[in-house]
Amino acid sequence: MIKDITDNKLTEEALREGEERYRTILDDIEDGYFEVDIAGNFTFFNDSMCKILGYLPNEMMGMNNQEYMDEGNARKVYQTFNRVYITGIPAKGFDWELIRKDGKRRFVEASVSPMKSSTGKAIGFRGIVRDITERKRAEEALRENEERYQALFEQAIVPVYIFDPHTKRVLEANSEFFRILGYSVEELETLHVYDFIAHNKESVDRDIEHVLKEGSRDIGVRNWRRKDGTLVHVIVTASLIQQHGKDIVCIIANDITELKQAEEDLRQSEQKYRSLFEESKDEVYITTPEGKILDVNPAGVKLFGYSSKEELLRVDIPRQLYWNSHQREEYKRLLDKQGYVKDFELEMKTKDGKKIVVLDTGSVVRDSSGNIVAYRGIVRDITERKSLEEQLRHSQKLESLGTLVGGIAHDFNNILGIIIGHASLLQVASIDKEEVSRRAEAIMEATERGASLVKQMMTFARKTEPVFQPLDLNMLVKEFAKMINETFPKTIKVCSRIAQDLPPVVSDATQIHQVLLNLCINARDAMPKGGTLTISTKRVNAEKLGRRFPNLTAQEYVVLTVADTGIGMDKNTQRRLFEPFFTTKPPGHGTGLGLATVYGIVSSHGGFIHVESEPGKGAAFRVYMPAAEKPVLYYQTSDLSDVEVNGGSETILIVDDEEYLRQFMESLLISKGYNILIAKDGEQAVEIYREHHKNIALVISDMGLPRLSGEDVFRQIRKVNPNAKVILASGLVEPVLESELLKAGVQEFIMKPYTQTEVLVKTRKVLDAKI
Ligand code: ADP
Ligand code: MG
Repeated sequence: MIKDITDNKLTEEALREGEERYRTILDDIEDGYFEVDIAGNFTFFNDSMCKILGYLPNEMMGMNNQEYMDEGNARKVYQTFNRVYITGIPAKGFDWELIRKDGKRRFVEASVSPMKSSTGKAIGFRGIVRDITERKRAEEALRENEERYQALFEQAIVPVYIFDPHTKRVLEANSEFFRILGYSVEELETLHVYDFIAHNKESVDRDIEHVLKEGSRDIGVRNWRRKDGTLVHVIVTASLIQQHGKDIVCIIANDITELKQAEEDLRQSEQKYRSLFEESKDEVYITTPEGKILDVNPAGVKLFGYSSKEELLRVDIPRQLYWNSHQREEYKRLLDKQGYVKDFELEMKTKDGKKIVVLDTGSVVRDSSGNIVAYRGIVRDITERKSLEEQLRHSQKLESLGTLVGGIAHDFNNILGIIIGHASLLQVASIDKEEVSRRAEAIMEATERGASLVKQMMTFARKTEPVFQPLDLNMLVKEFAKMINETFPKTIKVCSRIAQDLPPVVSDATQIHQVLLNLCINARDAMPKGGTLTISTKRVNAEKLGRRFPNLTAQEYVVLTVADTGIGMDKNTQRRLFEPFFTTKPPGHGTGLGLATVYGIVSSHGGFIHVESEPGKGAAFRVYMPAAEKPVLYYQTSDLSDVEVNGGSETILIVDDEEYLRQFMESLLISKGYNILIAKDGEQAVEIYREHHKNIALVISDMGLPRLSGEDVFRQIRKVNPNAKVILASGLVEPVLESELLKAGVQEFIMKPYTQTEVLVKTRKVLDAKI
């Protein structure tokens, strides 16, 4: 059969031409075009497809889609192809991610339709692929950007909001905005800027107009009103932005309410301190280290008597305000050293030259590198107080002197009473020898008591020098118990309990004697109806005392206890017991010095006292004294009592205004063979000495003489004879005067009241001494 192939040819031609055209179109379009077989292998594609995947055409031909996709995408493609195959309906607009030959990923949008043979059988798929990687990236970036700004907006720690400048409606606001103003997110829809800006409408509108005109603007400090009506202070910045072609104003604010409050507080406290400074009754100052006042309050101006602050600011402190500029140097030195000085007493000067006494509490002011740049402080005027104190001290002194004299006078009266009583009994002619000596003994004892009273006062006034020696307390107690047993009322039973192993105490025997005496006299006074007085000694280890007395210094202590069964005392009395002049005894009966003296003595011995008492149950005074380590020296109360003394035949001049004492001396010395000359006062003594100095071997003179004192007598006599021997007798010689006189040449002192032995021993000693 002959066919007209021309037609065929023509058709072929036409076909080829059509194909060519399509080919060109395909190669010209930017989208990728592909055809794959049922299994997904490329059978045809255009240039753009090659470009998208980055392969050469010959590499791509027959390539399966799994080779340029990851597993996930391959599955997606398979599912799409499958659906298209089954339904025959093209799939449009789905996203794939392709992996190029160089490994880079591309996002594509694809559409796929089935490819059928002329018999209608499905032989593959064809599709268009559009590279949307760039678009996707841009979208992504935009989204990220938006998210970032949203976060910024939302999480800003300052209130931010945007509003429509024409409707004045708030469009959006962050949580800080809501938090500060107290509105809820739901209320945003109806919120106008007028609702919370606490300024009038005109000024709000004016602000908005400025923003519209200038784009952005620092609006400055504005007030907002919270929903609850309270005010918030904010600093506001506005900027104009475009949203969907419309003007929107964005406001960023800064809450400065607290700052404002702090500022206000500061201002108020400054005000407060200022008024404290201005109104203080004490002077408050600040000065330069060189001595110029930088600031001072009105009290300071008044204190120094200046007419104005300006006048005071001109003064030179050391020269014009200090009584003694040297004192400022001292104060300054202390301030510089310590940085702070409290209540430094200064003598200062007012403008008209009056002296005032002040207490200055000052501190230094330093700069950041530590240099002193100023002093500041407070000055309190105590001039008045000082003079009042002085007066008070004076009147107190008089008062206590009165009490003291009253007490002593009473004691002396008693003593004199005893002496007079016994002495008058001695005058009775009929008494026997034994009674004479008993009465004489009683008189001696009374005299001793008088002497010890004087000693006690001198101890209290610290006029005697203690002599510390190891002392056996037991000896002292034994002797003492005997003494008071004889002299105390018979209704009082005296017991002594003595520890055998007692270590010695280093102490002044006279003073310990004093302690015992004072404690026993108190015990006696506490038992007017009689009772038992117990004196005991004991040794204790410091460890046992540690709890009660924390400041122990010795290993071992000796306790001396004086206990009575008397009236006892309440806690109140116990608290004040040791105060000088504290007494519960009626006027004229107590001096209140007894225990004060005891306390002074015991403390000076490194000891302490413990008192145990209850009203009605008696009292026990325990005196603790450190035990000595050295062996005991023998204790002697009257070291001259048993000495046998020699007399002599020299001539002695006796000077005393007391007739009885003179007679005592005269008969004593005559009985020992001496020749005696007598003078009644100082002047007479000097006269007699001038006349008889060749014969006089010794002068014994009282210190307290009328007209010319014993001291003067001594000096006058020495003018006559530089080697004259002199003994001075006195009840009281101050240690300073005593040593002065000894240096001047007085050979000896005899303490009143004197004993025969003392007079005789010292007389002999001086007479025998070589000059
Ligand atoms: P004075 O004996 O002169 O009153 P003191 O200082 O010796 O002074 O004693 C002070 C006071 O302590 C006494 O007035 C008395 O109230 C009280 N006192 C001291 N010792 C005793 C004691 N043994 N019993 C009761 N009270 C005492
Ligand atoms: Mg007393």
